[in-house]
Amino acid sequence: MSNKPALNILFVDDDSAIATAFSHSLQTIEASLDSALKLDIAESAEEALERLETTRYAIVISDQRMRGESGLALIERHRKMDKTAAHILISGLLHPDLPEDPAEGTSLVALLCKPWRRHQLQLAMAKAIAFHRRQVAKLAESGPDNDFAAALVIDPQGSAIAAQVAQRAQNGPMRIDHVLLLEEGLKLLAKRTYHMIFVALDLPDGPELEPVTRLRQAAPDTPLVVVAAPNRRRQAMESLTLGADDYILRDLDSNSALHRTLRHLTQRQRSRQRVGYLTSHDQLTGIWNRPSFLGHLTSTLANAGDNAQTVAVFSVDLDQFKKVNEELGQEVGDQVLRTIGGRLAALSEPFRFAARTGGDQFAVVARPVRSAEVAKLANELRLTLAEPIHTSSGELVAPTHIGAATYPAAGRTADEILGAADVAMSEAAQNNESVVVLLDKRRRQTGDARLETELREALEKGEFLLYYQPQFDLRTGDPVGAEALLRWRDKSGEIVPPGQFVPVMERGDLIVDVGAWVIQRACQQLVEWQRDFPGILRIAANLSARQFEHPGLLHAVEHALEQTSIDPASLELEITEGLLLKDTEHTQSILSTLRAWGVRIAIDDFGTGYSSLAYLHRFPVDTIKVDRSFIQALDMGGNGAALVSAIIGLAHKLEFEIVAEGVETAEQLQFLKNEGADLAQGFLLGRPSPDWTPSLSLST
Ligand code: C2E
Ligand code: MG
Ligand code: MG
Repeated sequence: MSNKPALNILFVDDDSAIATAFSHSLQTIEASLDSALKLDIAESAEEALERLETTRYAIVISDQRMRGESGLALIERHRKMDKTAAHILISGLLHPDLPEDPAEGTSLVALLCKPWRRHQLQLAMAKAIAFHRRQVAKLAESGPDNDFAAALVIDPQGSAIAAQVAQRAQNGPMRIDHVLLLEEGLKLLAKRTYHMIFVALDLPDGPELEPVTRLRQAAPDTPLVVVAAPNRRRQAMESLTLGADDYILRDLDSNSALHRTLRHLTQRQRSRQRVGYLTSHDQLTGIWNRPSFLGHLTSTLANAGDNAQTVAVFSVDLDQFKKVNEELGQEVGDQVLRTIGGRLAALSEPFRFAARTGGDQFAVVARPVRSAEVAKLANELRLTLAEPIHTSSGELVAPTHIGAATYPAAGRTADEILGAADVAMSEAAQNNESVVVLLDKRRRQTGDARLETELREALEKGEFLLYYQPQFDLRTGDPVGAEALLRWRDKSGEIVPPGQFVPVMERGDLIVDVGAWVIQRACQQLVEWQRDFPGILRIAANLSARQFEHPGLLHAVEHALEQTSIDPASLELEITEGLLLKDTEHTQSILSTLRAWGVRIAIDDFGTGYSSLAYLHRFPVDTIKVDRSFIQALDMGGNGAALVSAIIGLAHKLEFEIVAEGVETAEQLQFLKNEGADLAQGFLLGRPSPDWTPSLSLST
């Protein structure tokens, strides 16, 4: 290993398990690389950008598919910030539009597919280090470059100082601009940013201490070092009172003086960063404070606005926290706050970032979520925070009130949305409910037992109904069947979508009973359709994880098949990827039983979880429903089209049937046809409706 300083490496992935895996594999290969490495991890593109602003990284390794900004977009941005950095992209899927071996000379030196092999990582890292070294050398030769560490030297007496600065620079090479006159220096300062300025006293166009005052005005924040003849020590010291940061006496062992000065400047830079940290973070918990939370939320909203995505903000209030302080002492109170802060900071996707927004109040941002998921996330949050907390007075449970609001429904600005979440939170506190979700300004959703009771009654009173959304065969244009989607007609007669009550039912066993009803009702509907339209092949029903794992599921399916005597192959059950990731024997055995009966299994919302097609191949899965977000991405340019066609291609190789979800435009439909998707479903072809009849054939 060389004695060169360690290279800073940044790894970006919103899955912390992958980051851990990377950190391990890096350790195993580090000895084989000719450089020591220092690894940092960012769990989102946003966090990565934040780090890139304060630290220089020689290599950035990023996952391609992250919530929010893609890895490629992040790399593109970083490339503009730092021309010496090398990049490695990690992906779960092959990208047909990306060459396997990226072109020589671009900063993207390698693509790694998950899971990578040791030698692949080794090769990629070696390439990255080599690229970085080459760029550093090139830039050091070619000189001026806007975004390089830079020093300005204004000194008519030759370039000795400049040469020494260059030699002594600690954080890699530095660009040195050397000029002889104050005016030239000021001109450069107006155009470029410098990290430090060295100026001689008594310049031809700036007598005595004038250079110091002029430069301080022109660049108040840039470290300024005065270079003076040994017999001008007094004047040099005086310059410090005018705002210079340090001085060097020329020729008097200027090398070590320079060394000291550069170290001093570096420390100053660090302490500035530290001050930045202190003003943006809460001292007690170490997470962000309210102002920086609002700042980050503002940029998250701007980003989401561009991509038409939802952002959810949760406001968390600790119930009766004052009592903890009063009765158990402030020390214990602090322990509770620190633990809560730590848990919030450790939340994983789709949660993004958290802050302490007040004494006993916290806020969390999640993104992107469909508004339907908000209640579920709020509940998840509540459960995480309700875990016992270890304190010096023993174990404590901190009950919370959580309010939620979403962008854009609840407001447009960070202030408005946090405000709406706060309102929902106080409402929860007043009514002594744990969770209140303010989905929009009008509708309020409670996460308490009352709603659960109402839903139980709804089942008895027959207030549930199914909507059907047709699925069309893209080759023939004929409808092949429909997906059954649950609705609730509440007391007021309003039709409530599943996102607003299914999560509540999932907390108890109610979903199992309602789910059994859904399967039964769906099978009956199929019998009715098939009587009049023999071409209708199937009906699909959604299962939630809770329901899938419940012993009652198989019984419910068996019962429905017996009662209606439909062909089992005409019933398709939709499950989500997450369920399979657990890969328990139990999962396998339920799936094999269903397969043995002939029932079809579809993976819903494919691509939003973390499984890959190759992985799904291990299960008896028939159909892949490509998530609506991928279909929407078709219109946004970029990699969307390539990604969808890659999924279709690979899925077909693995003999899965493909259903494209959420098709909204004729262009999307045409693209999917060309790419050979099997079925399509979406608003363009038919909205979910309680009385769909299978007569219409696709005209296009
Ligand atoms: P899902 O299974 O992915 O259902 C598709 C959702 O996307 C439906 O929302 C549908 O109305 C909507 N959709 C369909 N085409 C388009 C389109 O072109 N554009 C857009 N923007 N949206 C489209 P819905 O009916 O609100 O259902 C939401 C989710 O609720 C479902 O997602 C499913 O996960 C769950 N769900 C629905 N019914 C049941 C059920 O009976 N049991 C369980 N456990 N979950 C259900
Ligand atoms: Mg579905
Ligand atoms: Mg879906």
